[in-house]
Amino acid sequence: MTIQRRALGPKDVHIDILYCGICHSDIHAVRGDWRVPDLPIVPGHEIVGRVVAVGSAVTKFRPGDIAGVGCMVDSCGECENCLADREQICLNGTTFTYGAPDKISGGQTYGGYADSIVVTERFAIRIPPGMDLASTAPILCAGITTFSPLRHWQVTPAFRVGVVGLGGLGHMAVKLALAHQAQVTVFTTSPGKIADARRLGASEAVLWSDAQGMSRQANSCDLIIATVPEGFSMQPFFNALKNDGTLVNVGALGSLNPDLSGMLLAFSRKKLSGSMIGGIAETQQVVDYCFARNIRPEVELIRPDQIQAAYRRVLDKDVRYRFVIDFASAKRAA
Ligand code: NAP
Ligand code: ZN
Repeated sequence: MTIQRRALGPKDVHIDILYCGICHSDIHAVRGDWRVPDLPIVPGHEIVGRVVAVGSAVTKFRPGDIAGVGCMVDSCGECENCLADREQICLNGTTFTYGAPDKISGGQTYGGYADSIVVTERFAIRIPPGMDLASTAPILCAGITTFSPLRHWQVTPAFRVGVVGLGGLGHMAVKLALAHQAQVTVFTTSPGKIADARRLGASEAVLWSDAQGMSRQANSCDLIIATVPEGFSMQPFFNALKNDGTLVNVGALGSLNPDLSGMLLAFSRKKLSGSMIGGIAETQQVVDYCFARNIRPEVELIRPDQIQAAYRRVLDKDVRYRFVIDFASAKRAA
């Protein structure tokens, strides 16, 4: 399919796409889980590529540089949130990377399952020379979405961090919490992932269906990051929080039915929160943080013609732990 990218403006960079991760959000978007999509929709918001042209006023990139694009491509730049580096919750409306009205072109945005993208330099992330490109792509969404709550709740080595759901976001939550020297507990629905959670460094790994195992985790976690793609019963995870602890839901973005006991909440002052990706400065920070510590998402490279099969495996909880579409090999061969 041919999609039109806008002509290069003075502050735009034109990026030839080399890799793009597959986030569960892509699947929600094409299936219309959140809203009926405006078609055509081109998903993909974990983009890494090479800058091939820059506008006359661009200072951050030169042709040949490697750049990343995450979940958003524009925001007002003037509201309280944008001024505080929280462009992802711009009060005048963040422009997301795909399926959103594009204020500049007047059309809609198209994501990274594509040959190239044009984006304002403010929303492009510098990828340090020498960084492995395929495994950098998932940092632009899965990485920042789990890094941001770890930073906001100021995770220290004294923390135990719970991670619910060991998929793309979940495995990055484990790696990044460990990098903050926290202890980690993984809560999974997949028996086959218990051993993997330990291999990744979690000191505890529990099946939700194991009632005894769940009750042994009572009052153990300071912070829990939940990455489950749909609504789920939260009380068992609230039980696993310490008093004053917080459950941050980054997964389920549809209606939540938390099914919580008001009495237990009153007695414990536990909190439920959400978190939306992270700002551009924080996205740059997590990319640099992962490069400095050699933290790499675990990726399985696929060809563009394997996207449907990859979606099926993500829905079956059978991704270890991020599919990344490899456009680079085909471009090298061409
Ligand atoms: P993913 O790779 O599919 O991982 C989700 C994991 O959740 C699964 O691997 C599975 O782990 C667990 N799970 C439990 N019940 C499930 C069910 N009914 N169906 C599928 N998985 C289930 O997904 P992801 O890319 O990490 O994204 C997770 C969610 O976060 C999605 O809803 C996505 O839209 C959302 N998201 C939010 C933000 C944000 O900014 N807030 C950013 C990116 C993505 P176990 O096998 O261990 O149980
Ligand atoms: Zn995503």
